[in-house]
Amino acid sequence: MMEKISKITANAHTHTTYCDGKCSAEEMILGAIGKGLTCLGFSGHCYTWFDESYAMSRENTEQYRKEILELKEKYRGTIDIVLGTEWDGDARDLDPKEYEYTLGSCHYVYGETTGRYYTVDYTIEELQACKDEAFHGDGMAMVRAYYEAMIRMVQNRKPTIVGHLDLIRKLNAGNRFFDETSEDYLQIAKEAAKVCVDSGCIIEINTGGVYRRYRNTPYPAEPILRYINDLGGKVTINSDCHDIEGIDYMFPQTLELMKRCGFRTVWQLTAEGMKEYEIL
Ligand SMILES: [Zn+2]
Ligand SMILES: [Zn+2]
Repeated sequence: MMEKISKITANAHTHTTYCDGKCSAEEMILGAIGKGLTCLGFSGHCYTWFDESYAMSRENTEQYRKEILELKEKYRGTIDIVLGTEWDGDARDLDPKEYEYTLGSCHYVYGETTGRYYTVDYTIEELQACKDEAFHGDGMAMVRAYYEAMIRMVQNRKPTIVGHLDLIRKLNAGNRFFDETSEDYLQIAKEAAKVCVDSGCIIEINTGGVYRRYRNTPYPAEPILRYINDLGGKVTINSDCHDIEGIDYMFPQTLELMKRCGFRTVWQLTAEGMKEYEIL
């Protein structure tokens, strides 16, 4: 019998001062306990060789792993702490066996003609430069390159969870860079979602973009969520928090959104790994 839940009590997408978070790992744990969570997974941004502005350095990574494992022991019996990492699609030299789970994400589009990585979730100016310089102003070509990177990442690495599948929408409010309601766009995004489902990965529903007021609804967008459900895909709810306030942001509303999209079960991180629950 599958256990039933009416409330999300775990988060597998947590940042700290080891990368671009605002609080220490222990502060985040105390925050999670205060909010009644039973499990907190840390997903520090892994080292990316071409961009050291937001991710963990090589030296920091060792210290991060050590501290999270120490905190896991310290809080055993109070809250389950799990060691993960947010594994960027263009990162190199990461051994997934050093982590209890991995969260595979894409944050960049590579411009073949410019030989440069563009961050898709940083500033309007950078995404505009990506569209103009690397894709000659063709927003849909940029979208295609983003989802192709996502597909490669998922097929090559098979991460435990796929992070913010349609992050390329973050700065696209008002369809500024591409028409995200068009059939063309939805077709490309759905193809990537299908690869995630076929690879057995759990897809994250991420409330971080709403918390930070970039968008009104979580990633992925509702048409993609409905499609994932049609395919029988697995999903989990994560906050992608960078501070204590954000740890369980919008969890109840997101569970309702899942139900509206037809999902009957939800996956949650536990001390033993990802576990499926029936939604009450
Ligand atoms: Zn991310
Ligand atoms: Zn993140």
